[in-house]
Amino acid sequence: MEYLHYPLKEKLVETLDRYPVQLVTDLDTLELSFNVDGLPLFKSSGKSMWPILCAVMLSPVTIFPTALTCGTKKPTDLAFLEDTVTDLTEVLTNGLDYRKKNIKVIVRCFVCDAPAKALIKNTKCYSGYYGCERCTQRGIWLKRVTYQETAELNLRTDASFRAQTQPEHHHGPTPLSDLPIDMVQSFPIDYMHQVCLGVTKKLLFIWCRGEKGMRISAGQVQEISSRLLQLKSSIPSIFARTPRGLDELERWKATEFRQFLLYTGRLVLKGVLREDLYNHFLTFSVAIGLLVCPTLVQPHHHYAQNLLQYFVEKGCELYGATFLVYNTHTMLHLSTDAIRFKGLDNCSAFVFENHLQTIKKMVHLGRIPWPKSPTDWRRI
Ligand SMILES: [Zn+2]
Repeated sequence: MEYLHYPLKEKLVETLDRYPVQLVTDLDTLELSFNVDGLPLFKSSGKSMWPILCAVMLSPVTIFPTALTCGTKKPTDLAFLEDTVTDLTEVLTNGLDYRKKNIKVIVRCFVCDAPAKALIKNTKCYSGYYGCERCTQRGIWLKRVTYQETAELNLRTDASFRAQTQPEHHHGPTPLSDLPIDMVQSFPIDYMHQVCLGVTKKLLFIWCRGEKGMRISAGQVQEISSRLLQLKSSIPSIFARTPRGLDELERWKATEFRQFLLYTGRLVLKGVLREDLYNHFLTFSVAIGLLVCPTLVQPHHHYAQNLLQYFVEKGCELYGATFLVYNTHTMLHLSTDAIRFKGLDNCSAFVFENHLQTIKKMVHLGRIPWPKSPTDWRRI
């Protein structure tokens, strides 16, 4: 695989130079978040890129890559993490010298979708029997792995992860263990992938494309679509997108599932979706609404947790035991992250999404030198 490394210290200094002097002068601590994700580049060639992105959590957030890895398949080992881990260890240990001052550097979190998270932590994938990164329960096979236990879960800790007390969860060591971070809590359940593109999408697909008995009628689909389209003119301009009909469900983006979950779904499903299914959706919508909001999460996280507990357990009753796949199961662990990071948006992949698309465009435009300047790249 081809690999390009960007030294972290230099990138941080370069980034801070772009902020107002006053903001940087007052800065004692610099918080960083990281993202690792696979980015398909050219459909025809199967080539993909695995960028490691660093977000400097100032206002506005600045994102830059610390490493780019390219190839025709997923990285087969974790060598692509090593430079970033070395650079990061240095700034976490010694701080960042900037304009005659030493700024403390801390890591907020590593945000990834479930496959990337399993890759960089070197653990079993979410589809494996010991795939939950938060609890030790063994999955049960119901045409796919499901997690049937919903209460009194035995939680993983930083110490149990590092000691690999449940060997079945691990493939082996990871360079990330060299960092002074919590190997469980520093890897949040990602709101974008697991809530919006995960559970919310799953519910919509059960209703619109699911098995007979679960599926709603063509007339109901049409009614919901027409209600969504009617809302178009009422969507404030702060939303990136206005609603599309359910006939375009396959093309909905994460932000559209978010808008449906938090805002429009409650309106357009009412009186159309069967009442018990509607109320079940409503519990999810309210719970996530509380966990996303930085001011509501603190006073109401217990209530949100109870709603999610009900959502998962009732979901099994309404949709069958196969409802309890990994994404649904992780909703039981979600409120812990919302509290730790003061709202789900503070630990989600949404902030990285645009930058990933920018990288893709830069590669297509030839602004990122791969693969034309092999001198910049080395093989790993
Ligand atoms: Zn779990």
